[in-house]
Amino acid sequence: MHYLSTRGDATPRQFCEILLEGLAPDGGLYLPAHYPQVDSATLTRWRTVYHEQGYAELAFEVLSLYIDDIPAADLQALCAKTYTAEVFGTGEIVPLRHLENDVWLEALSNGPTLAFKDMAMQLLGNLFEYELARRGQELNILGATSGDTGSAAEYAMRGKKGVRVFMTSPQGRMSPFQQAQMFSLMDENIVNIAIDGVFDDCQDIVKAVSNDLDFKRKYKIGTVNSINWARLLAQVVYYFAGYIQATASNDQKVSFAVPSGNFGNVCAGHVARMMGLPIAELVVATNENDVLDEFFRTGIYRVRGSADTFETSSPSMDISKASNFERFVFDLVGRDGARTQDLFTTQLATHGYFDLSADPAFKDAAARYGFASGKSTHADRLATILDTDTRHGVVIDTHTADGLKVALEHLLPGVPMVVLETALPIKFAATVQEALGRQPDRPAQFAGIEDLPKRVLNLPADVALVKALIEKTCG
Ligand SMILES: *Cc1c(COP(=O)(O)O)cnc(C)c1O
Repeated sequence: MHYLSTRGDATPRQFCEILLEGLAPDGGLYLPAHYPQVDSATLTRWRTVYHEQGYAELAFEVLSLYIDDIPAADLQALCAKTYTAEVFGTGEIVPLRHLENDVWLEALSNGPTLAFKDMAMQLLGNLFEYELARRGQELNILGATSGDTGSAAEYAMRGKKGVRVFMTSPQGRMSPFQQAQMFSLMDENIVNIAIDGVFDDCQDIVKAVSNDLDFKRKYKIGTVNSINWARLLAQVVYYFAGYIQATASNDQKVSFAVPSGNFGNVCAGHVARMMGLPIAELVVATNENDVLDEFFRTGIYRVRGSADTFETSSPSMDISKASNFERFVFDLVGRDGARTQDLFTTQLATHGYFDLSADPAFKDAAARYGFASGKSTHADRLATILDTDTRHGVVIDTHTADGLKVALEHLLPGVPMVVLETALPIKFAATVQEALGRQPDRPAQFAGIEDLPKRVLNLPADVALVKALIEKTCG
């Protein structure tokens, strides 16, 4: 399998060449040159694989279609090491929970940091360690987080050989639980940096350091952001596992509802559907930051400035532009790299939006790609959390509530609707308390986490000081 860029660079690259990279050199995102097709016989075999051998083995089957530069036995061992009941809480790894009629929840948030990002990040940690050892290289991951990504990256990379993590976060802006998750890590290779500023300041620092090519090369700076293809690929697996659990035969279709921000999660659903998984609809759920809902309703993709990006009670979806969206648009316009490049550079830079409403590709997008969308507000979130607790005795988090609210607007007769649970409620306890008048359950391993000693350095929002810290740490 070769990978190409959404902006036209078709230099054939293999999986391990793009594993440690972010954007392609032309500024595009990597995608496979084609989507391997999973026929009904294979899907039937995968049912047995999942039920009898487990999620890790299913992951190996899916990943093998996209990775041919890691020996099969090694890839299988990496999957087996990643997807264990010890790390993800159950033997099913992503069990379905029935809510009512055709509505199901797929649990993706029982990994170490209680958000679905662990599903991909845990694999990435093992892939990075493997590939770096093979090359005899080291990597310093520099990131910015407002919550879930930073902790998922740190728990995936802690104790890994050859990898160090420098994670910036806005001082005092994460929830106490999120701060405790990150700052209580005592591993030598994890460096928490609390920046006096907001999330954008952290992101600007990461960009400035990455743009200093000499520094980047000398200190082997890398990232783990959501545009990484390996992360997306890891997420494709749980669409297959969700489908297999919700159906008994391949004649059945399933819809998925996905709480969306950067479009990484639902883009994995798109990949699964392109591979032939019988998905009826991919329902994109946004919060008040509704860039994606607007696109699927109107054909207009209008990015927002930070002043127009709202702080909401589903904060992991507070985005003003969806970094993975370019992948879907590339497919939508018939994999035309020049056109994609024009839309995401010239059009966005000149107008702040692009408009595909009159394009035939957009007109039949729903039919061809199965996308549907909707949005959810703070009031919807509270009502959905309360309703789900009252009627089903199930407490969901704010992001999952956005997904469920929109899912219920898109039910098709006889088609199971699988809502992806993207975090556990304890991560967003204040809003759950507001909805239910009580605190959500706290998994035992997180008892008293806020009281643990903290390991964090505080710095002003100053690129030079962050660089100096990296220099000093790397020796
Ligand atoms: C990251 C995140 C999302 C958004 O996922 P994308 O892949 O960016 O669309 C939704 N919910 C939670 C809890 C998250 O952490």
